This record gives sequence, structure tokens and C-alpha cells, in this order.
Amino acid sequence: MKIIHVSAECYPIAKIGGLADVVGALPKYQYQLGADSSVIMPFYNNKFTKTNRFTELHESELKLGHDTIPYSVLRAEAPDLEFPIYFIHIEHLLYKEYVYSDNDVERFLAFQIATMDWILSLENKPDIIHCHDHHTGLIPFMAQESYNYKSLNKIPVITTIHNAQYQGWMSYEYLHKIPEFNSKYLGLLDWNGIINPLAASIKCAWRVTTVSPSYMEELKEQANGLENLLAAESAKCVGILNGIDTDVWNPETDSFIIKNYTKTTVTSGKKANKKWLCKEYDLDETKPLFAFIGRLVGEKGAGLLPKVFNEILKSKDISIFLLGSGFKETETELLYLKNLHSGNYNTYIGYDEKLSHIIYASADFLLMPSRVEPCGLNQMYALRYGTVPVVRSIGGLKDTVVDIDSKGFGICHQDVSIASIIEAIKRASDFYDNKEAFNANRKNIMSLNHSWEVSAKAYLNLYNSIN
Ligand code: ADP
Repeated sequence: MKIIHVSAECYPIAKIGGLADVVGALPKYQYQLGADSSVIMPFYNNKFTKTNRFTELHESELKLGHDTIPYSVLRAEAPDLEFPIYFIHIEHLLYKEYVYSDNDVERFLAFQIATMDWILSLENKPDIIHCHDHHTGLIPFMAQESYNYKSLNKIPVITTIHNAQYQGWMSYEYLHKIPEFNSKYLGLLDWNGIINPLAASIKCAWRVTTVSPSYMEELKEQANGLENLLAAESAKCVGILNGIDTDVWNPETDSFIIKNYTKTTVTSGKKANKKWLCKEYDLDETKPLFAFIGRLVGEKGAGLLPKVFNEILKSKDISIFLLGSGFKETETELLYLKNLHSGNYNTYIGYDEKLSHIIYASADFLLMPSRVEPCGLNQMYALRYGTVPVVRSIGGLKDTVVDIDSKGFGICHQDVSIASIIEAIKRASDFYDNKEAFNANRKNIMSLNHSWEVSAKAYLNLYNSIN
């Protein structure tokens, strides 16, 4: 079976968040299961594209409204990648130092049109086109309705919603840039009077998946305006929990961390990593270390963290370290706290892949007080590194973390409020003090299996059911 994943991000080429981790892992595991799975993504101006070799496979021009835009399709000649990766190269639109900007409509429209034109030109067509998030949300529509691509309309198109908050809204001034179609189908693009690529993909894809079963259910109640659409289309929707790439996220072999360790050596291994982190960031290594890694946005509950940290550090003997970036106001508040709690609190505002690995290896607890969490990968990385997740039970967090009081292994809270997060941290800290139970739990969580094998098979079964 030949599968083409279409995405704006893919680890290790370009990563902003979990989308990259998923698109960098799922094809690899599908490939291992015997499927001919590949990825096509934009050719950005970044470290990966500057330091690898590429072969040009196809050169052509695409129509974007009245403009004619030259593009090429490149294949990476990178032996470390375990599945084929193709790129759409459009110098003035996609070849940028960033992945996303404030004005991406034309960039991702051109990317999608070039992808469809390229697929049209292939002798050996895919059996499945698998689109990810709103940046590729017009492909299911184009495959079904655009005159140019009529010959592709028997190829099943799947869409995966990694995050329904972002929908790629486009004003009608861009309508003429979408490859021509019969205007009686205009309604498929529209949701509430605006072109909505995510809504169009939900309407037109053959199957819609979300990245956890609970998130699928929650979206029918709360989906940034798409609740009714998802409820109406529920027959073709399914939630498949993401896995993690256990080759990349493995404390035994992780080259980013200070000391590698296994279940047997977890105590000394984590101690060595924590020692390094605490020395580097002026924290007390003898105290339980709570960490947060992620985007500082409302969905992650990040706005509450400065107040939570300030309160809890006054009453509990713990250390806190945060890695993230996002809302400037939250960043400023978090930085300010350093003056009030130096020695017990520190933060690194920015994005740092290596540091994130060291934190998973060092921390005793990982905080995830999310308001919305489609799947969440951090909690699964934490588990693999023997770090206890402290999570709000929502979406994928609900599907992967069971509270210690329910014979589980993590700390769960139901609400996103300062009081409930503080209460959860207090429970965690008490748990830490029970050394025997805490250490046994550490070994236990490292054995939990969240690898991609199960989910990669679930996707293959889904493809087979419609092929
Ligand atoms: P989302 O995609 O909503 O941001 P996920 O939990 O699905 O959240 O995935 C987040 C991924 O991004 C994880 O791999 C996490 O380690 C990584 N990450 C988030 N923020 C940072 C950061 N500031 N530095 C390094 N890695 C980060």
C-alpha cells in the first residue's frame, strides 16, 4: 500500500510541536509494517535543508489565481531518515526561516496545489493521501471537486485533526486561487460565512481521525465552532491515540541527555541528569523537581502558571523549571518570578530540543495543566523517562494517565484553576516523600508501552477499510 502524508511539519526537519513528532514517526512505523509510506512537506530554509543533499524529481509551474508560480519537487538523500521525504520548493513562498507566519494563506494554498499537481503527474499513484491539520485541509476538497484533479477522486483521502483550535480561515478574496470547481459545491468550503479549510476537510475527507479517542468525543461539545459539523460527521470520525517514537525517546540511548539509564539504573541516571540541570540553572537538586515544557498559550493552562508557582514556592520545598515560549505577558511574568524565588525556580524562554530531553530525564514530575489537549506527547515522553506526569484529565491526558489513587501511576486533577493545580502539586510532593512507593512507581511507568506499533496498525486497518 502506497501512502503519502501531507504536512507542514515533520521531525527532524521542521518542528513546532507535536504535529512534527507524529508525522516524523507514523510513516516510519508504517514503513516497518510493510507499507510504502512517505511524507511531502514544504522546503523551508532551515538547518536540515542546508545540510542535506536533495534530488530534484519534478519541475513545473502551478496556477495560483492569475499568477503562475514555478515549483519543484525534491527528495531528501538523507540515509538516516527511515522513510522517503519529498519537498515542495517554492522559493518566494515556502523557502523561509520559519514554518508559520501571520499570513500563510497563499503559502499553504500553493503548497497544496503543487502537492496535488505532483500526485497527478505520478505514474504510480498513492493508494491513500493522508492530510494533517488545516494547512492541508483543502486537499480533500480539491481531490473531490476541482476539475484538474477529477482523475484522483477515487483515491481515499484521510484527514487527521491534531488541533481543532486552528482552522486556517480564509476570506472569500482568495476563492479564485482555489483550483476551479463547480460553484454549486461552494458550500463545502464554507463554515459560518468564511472559507474554513479544516471544516472543508471534515466534510470532504473519506475518514477523519483525531489523535485520541477522548478528544474526538470532546470535539463534539467544544471545537472552536465546529461542534455541530463533527457531531453530524461522526460516522466517519475515529480517535486513534498517538504513539511515541521509542527510538528517539529512549533514556537508554538518548544522545541529548547527560547520562543514559534504564529501568534498573533509573535512580542514579535521573540523579546525574538532575544534578547537571540544577547546577546549570541554579536549582537545589535535593528537592523534588517539577517541570513544564511547552507552548505558553491558553490551551496549555500556561497563563495560570506564574501565580501557581509563586504560591506553591512560598509553602512547599520544591524546585520548578520551565521551558517554553508563547504569550509575551506570560513570558514576562515567568521571568520576573526568577527574582522572587531564585535558587528554587528557573525558566528558559525559547525552544530547545536538547534541553527538553534533559528535562524529561531530570525532572521528578512534569506539569500539564491543559485546558485542551488533543493527545499530548509530553506525558508519554515523561513516563518513558521515569518522570511522573501531573495532568489535568482531558483529551489524550485522560486516555494515558491514571491517578495513583485509582491504582494508577500519575497525579490527575479535574479543573484548570490555580487551586486545583496547587492541590495536585501538593499531592505529588507528598507522594515524592514516600520514597519506596515513588521509586517503585518510577520503574513501573518506564515499562508502560506507548510505542507507535499499535497506532500505526490502527491507521493501516483504517486505510484498508476504505481502499
Ligand atoms: P503541542 O503540539 O500542542 O504543542 P504536544 O504535547 O503534542 O503539544 O507536543 C509538544 C512537543 O513539542 C513535544 O515534543 C515537546 O517536548 C516539544 N516542545 C514544546 N515546547 C518546547 C520547547 N520550548 N523546547 C523544546 N521542545 C518543546
